[in-house]
Amino acid sequence: MSVAVFGSLNMDLVVRVPRMPEAGETLTGRSFLTNPGGKGANQAVACARQGARVAMVGRVGDDAFGAELRSALAVQGVDASGVLETPGVSTGVAAILVDDGAQNCISVVPGANGQVAEADADAMRLAGTKLLLLQLEVPMAAVLRAAQVARAAGCQVLLNPAPAQALPEALWPLVDILVLNEIEAKLLGGLADVHAGNAAEAAAQLSARGPRDVIVTLGAEGAVWFADGKSRHFPAPQVRAVDTTAAGDTFIGALAALLVEGATMDRAVEHAIRAAAIAVTRVGAQASMPTRAEVLTRS
Ligand code: ATP
Repeated sequence: MSVAVFGSLNMDLVVRVPRMPEAGETLTGRSFLTNPGGKGANQAVACARQGARVAMVGRVGDDAFGAELRSALAVQGVDASGVLETPGVSTGVAAILVDDGAQNCISVVPGANGQVAEADADAMRLAGTKLLLLQLEVPMAAVLRAAQVARAAGCQVLLNPAPAQALPEALWPLVDILVLNEIEAKLLGGLADVHAGNAAEAAAQLSARGPRDVIVTLGAEGAVWFADGKSRHFPAPQVRAVDTTAAGDTFIGALAALLVEGATMDRAVEHAIRAAAIAVTRVGAQASMPTRAEVLTRS
């Protein structure tokens, strides 16, 4: 059984600068690099690296970045035949300035991600798919339809409500597994704050709206899983974190890979925590994601 991901693909354009430029200023940068990104593509790659069969559904523009993103997925073993081209629209990009103090300034242009439509959800081929992963970097109407299509096809739905935003009422009961960080839990739960001390309570409250399993990730403090009226805290291994970019995406991809193999949620969360702990010790998004062998070796 396999995993499908319905979501975003971006090219991250990263410029290192000594300091942030002022408005109107031209500042010489130190370096430039391009990195494939987008939460959808990141989760697809994280999942494939853990050995799962993964298919990606989304949109890119008919430009060089689009072609590069599709081939980057294929190199990782992700089936990118469901990534369609939207003519006349740019591929999604994130322009990122990072200064010497590691502060960043980011502007995301959704481009073709913003063109993902309900018809794309209707066209998904889900035969053999056990789990559909959704995030919120493509239009909400398309996300909702994808959840409906998946449920009708007998697939489970895992939603990562990032970037944080309110969900339509109709989406809640279609979500089997909700995985979110503290900021997203705070917004969706309407709470003043979510942290390790109250994450189980927040998860219980979110679960009451529909999802059977709710996992709140807590950065260096690990994660809390709530299901069937019970919660469990999973601590994260202590590591020297150098870059937490895509820690959440690594966690979700690894969790999904184990779940489609039939692992229990306990075992899947333990594996996801180990995978994410490795990712934070390396620089980059997809570049930092470990393989299955690496996770098993370091456990
Ligand atoms: P991001 O937006 O950076 O991708 P996130 O905010 O969605 O991440 P986090 O809760 O920060 O998600 O991290 C996800 C998981 O990554 C955590 O549950 C934990 O397992 C792991 N993790 C994150 N930071 C650390 C750390 N400093 N040490 C060990 N594990 C970490």
